[in-house]
Amino acid sequence: MNPVLTALMIPFLGTALGSAFVFFMKKDMPDLLQKVLLGFASGVMVAASVWSLLIPAMEMGTGNQAVVSPTIGLLAGFAFLLLIDYITPHIHPVGGPEGPESRLSRTAKLALAVTIHNFPEGMAVGVAIAGALTADSIWPERWLCHWV
Ligand SMILES: [Zn+2]
Repeated sequence: MNPVLTALMIPFLGTALGSAFVFFMKKDMPDLLQKVLLGFASGVMVAASVWSLLIPAMEMGTGNQAVVSPTIGLLAGFAFLLLIDYITPHIHPVGGPEGPESRLSRTAKLALAVTIHNFPEGMAVGVAIAGALTADSIWPERWLCHWV
């Protein structure tokens, strides 16, 4: 199979597998379990971003560039996500509507909230794949270690 297609299938399968748990749920999820699962998901995302993106970015540089460039990118990523969150009308399951006033349906606003989350994740996957395909990159070994 094409390595790019294989690389694209991994996050797709992970998302599909995670989403499949909805079929095993009955009615409402207990609050405690929901909190634990949200914490678990955030831990996985933070760990994946540190070990698979931030540390490889730091290992590519030398001296101050090893820290300054990834830090600028990290802060730009925070700002980008905050901007998208601020300018996009959406709704959070907990916390209610955010962004500018809109006549969009609740479903459309929920879809936009999911998109706000998935857009940066998709960008991260794209950057990781591009890095893995670069011949002189250190990413292939590190990337494969964390994703396979
Ligand atoms: Zn929001």
